Amino acid sequence: MQNSNQNHVDVLIIGAGAAGLMCAATAGYQGKRVLVIDHAPKAAAKIRISGGGKCNFTNLDVSPENYICRNPHFVKSALSRYPSTAFVELVDRHGLEYEERELGKLFCLNRASDLIQILRTECDWAGVEFMLNTPVSKVASIDGGYEVQIKDGSIHCNKLVVATGALSFPKLKASGFGYRLAEQFGLNVIPQAPGLVPLVFSGKWQQRFSSLSGLSMDVEVAANGRRFSEAMLFTHNGLSGPGILQASNYWQAGQPIEINLLPKQDVYAELLALKGSGKSLPKWLNQFWPKRFTQMWLELFPMESVLSNQSNESLQSYAEQLTNWQLYPEATAGYDKAEVTLGGVDTDEVSSKTFEAKKQPGLYFIGEVLDVTGQLGGYNFQWAWASGVACGLSL
Ligand SMILES: Cc1cc2nc3c(=O)[nH]c(=O)nc-3n(C[C@H](O)[C@H](O)[C@H](O)COP(=O)(O)OP(=O)(O)OC[C@H]3O[C@@H](n4cnc5c(N)ncnc54)[C@H](O)[C@@H]3O)c2cc1C
Repeated sequence: MQNSNQNHVDVLIIGAGAAGLMCAATAGYQGKRVLVIDHAPKAAAKIRISGGGKCNFTNLDVSPENYICRNPHFVKSALSRYPSTAFVELVDRHGLEYEERELGKLFCLNRASDLIQILRTECDWAGVEFMLNTPVSKVASIDGGYEVQIKDGSIHCNKLVVATGALSFPKLKASGFGYRLAEQFGLNVIPQAPGLVPLVFSGKWQQRFSSLSGLSMDVEVAANGRRFSEAMLFTHNGLSGPGILQASNYWQAGQPIEINLLPKQDVYAELLALKGSGKSLPKWLNQFWPKRFTQMWLELFPMESVLSNQSNESLQSYAEQLTNWQLYPEATAGYDKAEVTLGGVDTDEVSSKTFEAKKQPGLYFIGEVLDVTGQLGGYNFQWAWASGVACGLSL
């Protein structure tokens, strides 16, 4: 910041992540003087590492049902005003190369940093100023605006936008700053939990899964009544992969997850046919599963190789075991491994049109700091873009 009004901006955004950058460019284009502050040395660290370095930046099919929020209607306005097609138009204008993968997920073709460059370019064009490596020590409401203390003094702004994200991946400078700030101004914050996170097992399951570490299978996973048909991956201490991450958003401690290991088969009918044919069960299972899993399964749930002597009832209960395998995770793998955080600033406290706090004029919350969590598939970034634009237009 280098002019006579050094200490004053129209809009101060704390957090140079996905939502903060999008909001900054949008507000800058409205003619506002915008400053973005971040305590990290580089902007948008999560974009850089997301999607295995390719960033699943949106989805072709976004609807409010893809989000978890205490008020399921809250996301509708911003998502409909800034749909995924709008973000695709933006990246098309910049010539980003991207690809569509399964279930409508859009990924950068080359590097996620290409996307960061687009957002930084938009911010440059919109005249946005940045102060990185700048921790905020204190925020006070003053003179109809806000005073934000940083290491070299303070900055006054008319409008303060909190885009500090959530608790996942603390090694990327994630923090609970936004929650504390909300509480400072008397806003309710919904308790947090890790989301889109691997599930950890103990005892015999941990040993079994560890021995299969690296194996992936196409399954259907359900938790708390929500069902996902995606891959499951065995890890050294439990289960991961897209299906498990999706289910983790809905799983509650003490509850089981239910796994259909043969989601594309009519299992009972096929077991009956197998019984009549005299063919072997392991061979049949090996058509669908890696051999190492078949071996483990048959050790855990023994069944004669040839089913001819089995009653139909016993085949029915075996089919049930195969299609509704109930497992009790010990815990989630925690914030170190979670892609997102459930809970956050209560959306009842914030306008769904402008993202301004209802009780605290001039204070805004956008992105993941809010109690809005997307499913896996580009929905979390789409929320960051949509809430950032809606807020930026209102500043
Ligand atoms: C490993 C991983 C992979 C992911 N992959 C995907 C994916 O492919 N698709 C998808 O849709 N979502 C993905 N996500 C989720 C997605 O990254 C987040 O939902 C999204 O980044 C949230 O945007 P945000 O701007 O709200 O917060 P963030 O992007 O987290 O940005 C918050 C910013 O605030 C800064 N900040 C925090 N505290 C302070 C403070 N006290 N002072 C100053 N600055 C502060 C941080 O340094 C950061 O720059 C992934 C997340 C992780 C961890």
